[in-house]
Amino acid sequence: MISRELVFGSSDQFEVLAVLQTGDHMVLSVQSRSEGCACPLCNMFSTKLHSYYFRKPKDLPAFDNKVSLRLRAKKWYCLNTQCIRKIFTERFHHFFRPYQRTTDRLREKLLNIAVLMGGRPGEKLCRTLHISASSSSLIRIVHQQVVSNPSSVDAIGIDDSRIQERR
Ligand SMILES: [Zn+2]
Repeated sequence: MISRELVFGSSDQFEVLAVLQTGDHMVLSVQSRSEGCACPLCNMFSTKLHSYYFRKPKDLPAFDNKVSLRLRAKKWYCLNTQCIRKIFTERFHHFFRPYQRTTDRLREKLLNIAVLMGGRPGEKLCRTLHISASSSSLIRIVHQQVVSNPSSVDAIGIDDSRIQERR
């Protein structure tokens, strides 16, 4: 099994260049393999490279080590002359979100820990798992979840029928 499959499963979006170990911290040096990207504003596909940039999201622990990625990602020119976005950064759906400092899979794990254990016990569990997360950051992840509003009523409770009987 090659290292890319070990880290990213079936996705071929990334290439693992190196694994650097410092104490109990493992840094995976990763590079995007994309040859182009769709503009997030107008959706036109671009292959005109502008520059590179680095992101350093925290990831799930591995082999009893903290893990973070050092991702070399790309910026692209938007080729649509009508678009107001001239330059954009590539997107990594299912792995990282823009401006997020953790991978999606780590964030999902932190959400599960926060919901099951709460802030302070969750923080203690994270410490034993070699994940850096404070109780306040765990609670913040729970509060940031989007709760959808039901568009229609699926069921009527027993109290509703009592109201009708009184009329
Ligand atoms: Zn555009």
